[in-house]
Amino acid sequence: MSLPVVTLKQGRDASLQRRHPWVFSGAVGRVDGDPASGATVRVHAADDSPVGVAAWSPSSQIRLRMWDFDADAVIDGDFFATRVTAALAQREQIFAGSDTDALRLISSEADGLPGCVVDRYGEVLVCQFLSAGADAQRTHVLASLRAHFPDALFYERSDGDARQKEGLPLHSGWMGESKATLPLQVREEGLQFAVDIEGGHKTGFYLDQRDNRALLGQMSGGASVLNCFSYTGGFAVHALAGGAVEVTDVDVSADALLLAAANVAANGFDDGRYAQEEADVFSYLRQCRDARRQFDVIVLDPPKFAASASQLDRAARGYKDINLLALKLLRPGGLLFTFSCSGHMTPQLFRKVLADAAADAGRDATLLVPLMQAPDHPVALHIPESWYLKGWVLSV
Ligand code: SAH
Repeated sequence: MSLPVVTLKQGRDASLQRRHPWVFSGAVGRVDGDPASGATVRVHAADDSPVGVAAWSPSSQIRLRMWDFDADAVIDGDFFATRVTAALAQREQIFAGSDTDALRLISSEADGLPGCVVDRYGEVLVCQFLSAGADAQRTHVLASLRAHFPDALFYERSDGDARQKEGLPLHSGWMGESKATLPLQVREEGLQFAVDIEGGHKTGFYLDQRDNRALLGQMSGGASVLNCFSYTGGFAVHALAGGAVEVTDVDVSADALLLAAANVAANGFDDGRYAQEEADVFSYLRQCRDARRQFDVIVLDPPKFAASASQLDRAARGYKDINLLALKLLRPGGLLFTFSCSGHMTPQLFRKVLADAAADAGRDATLLVPLMQAPDHPVALHIPESWYLKGWVLSV
């Protein structure tokens, strides 16, 4: 079967030669054939040499997402079975012996499956098909998953901004007749968490912070901990498990805080050490400063401040503001767990923002531990964007 051919403009195959899987609309020279949204096309360089096969996204700025750099690859059920099996084998390596039943099984480009995200919460697999190509191939991806997890229930959360950019309708709900009782209950490092797959952020839980939460647990013995942007209290529960004497969750979302309180109770930590504040972190930190409150450990895990490169300056000011305030609230020897999940904020720039914050706070700080997303959210070495979560444990 001959595929439509998309020929790139002169010199615009450079990133593909480095195995980066995206082609932006401005790089497309000619389209031969009439590919439908999500259809598989063959990609040629300007001199007509074949580069690989890709999915066609006519509405998105990212016009092509490469499936394979072998131009003869056949994108069929076997292709997806191979990719899915490889992703699952990697997870088995990572999680052998771990007491965790909540993990990311498929992480989009980093697993060679652009636009496809699958998170496992116990017996439920939550799937996102976020690009035209992923959406068009959903039956193959689902069939491969069903072969590995015959008893799993499937829930779709295809409601991200990304789908709008791809011109795809938003859709969420159970796939099939069977449903699980919500919220789901999952285990992370032996601790228990309720996950709202229907209305929660992402697919319901920040799986990418798993290892960083565990590290906080190890470092919170005897500490008073302030957990800013707490969401459903993941960091708080680990700090309480680690022997913190006092933990406060701060978030603007009343729903997230309700689930946080349930998570604290479910682990048996409703023993007077836990408090929460429904507040804006920017003003709450100022209130703490004015009241001269002090903490041993502060966590700053804000939402993405920069959704695009143009928002980077403003985002940097936001990161500097909260880090400066937090550094001032720490007792000498205190620890700051600080994060940025904005893909546009590079690790270098984030470190500079932290250095500026410490200078303005008048505190000497040392970088103790570099932090990143958990390994079930792998970073593809040739896709810098796939390293989105950066963080540090800082000591003052
Ligand atoms: N640390 C969490 C994930 C944080 S997600 C975990 O490990 O699970 C970011 C959270 O920040 C969301 O719950 C959102 O409601 C909250 N948020 C966003 N802006 C805020 C603000 N200005 N003040 C307080 N909370 C905010």
